[in-house]
Amino acid sequence: MRTPLVVGNWKMNGSISANKALLAGLTEQWQGQSAELAVCPPAAYLNQAQQLLAGSTIALGAQDASAQASGAYTGEHSAAMLQEFGCRFAIIGHSERREYHAETDQAVAEKCKALLAAGLVPIVCVGETLAQRESNETLDVIKRQVSAVTDFVGSEALAGVVIAYEPVWAIGTGLTATPEQAQEVHAFIRQQLGSLGDETRILYGGSVKADNAEKLFGMADIDGALVGGASLKVDDFIAIGNAA
Ligand code: 13P
Repeated sequence: MRTPLVVGNWKMNGSISANKALLAGLTEQWQGQSAELAVCPPAAYLNQAQQLLAGSTIALGAQDASAQASGAYTGEHSAAMLQEFGCRFAIIGHSERREYHAETDQAVAEKCKALLAAGLVPIVCVGETLAQRESNETLDVIKRQVSAVTDFVGSEALAGVVIAYEPVWAIGTGLTATPEQAQEVHAFIRQQLGSLGDETRILYGGSVKADNAEKLFGMADIDGALVGGASLKVDDFIAIGNAA
């Protein structure tokens, strides 16, 4: 059985006071329901979030991680550093990082390996652009992005990895993939993972809101969500968690 997982990707949002209010609301309203809930604040606030989440069942994650263990990599954070700040998860390969930071499939695979070695759970993002969907390349793109990671880390590591399908055209646009569109890609990913992928949680991301979450989570291969905008509002994020 795969435990549903709902992860909030705050992206580059927050402030000391806003985080305090958001995390106070979340910890008060989330009492360890059946799904797992996690938040991924900007790295600068991991220390604050770790302290405010102490004693709660809400897990902490980072929005990126370095593939390197230490050394001359200005601006980077290693998996071991993230772990020291209480992170259990780290998002890698988000489309915004692939686009604005030229993150390649190989770089994502290397980050995935580094996180697994440090005992963290990588949340590997994959997804097609609108142009790719319109030219019927969706499954080819997904296959390339997923296999870059599985070939590099080995299929035996799959149970410790979370995959997030985030169609780029659905991120922050209000355009959600229909449950059927998402399920088609999730089933394709699961099939690509093979029998060892039965335990792998596959999340959907892209304009997930309180009012569309339940239908998405009703699909056989959708095990939760990676939530952007709606994760910044206590009631919306809790409602999505409750729907999972
Ligand atoms: P939105 O939920 O704001 O569309 O963002 C999705 C996302 O990119 C989560 O990683």
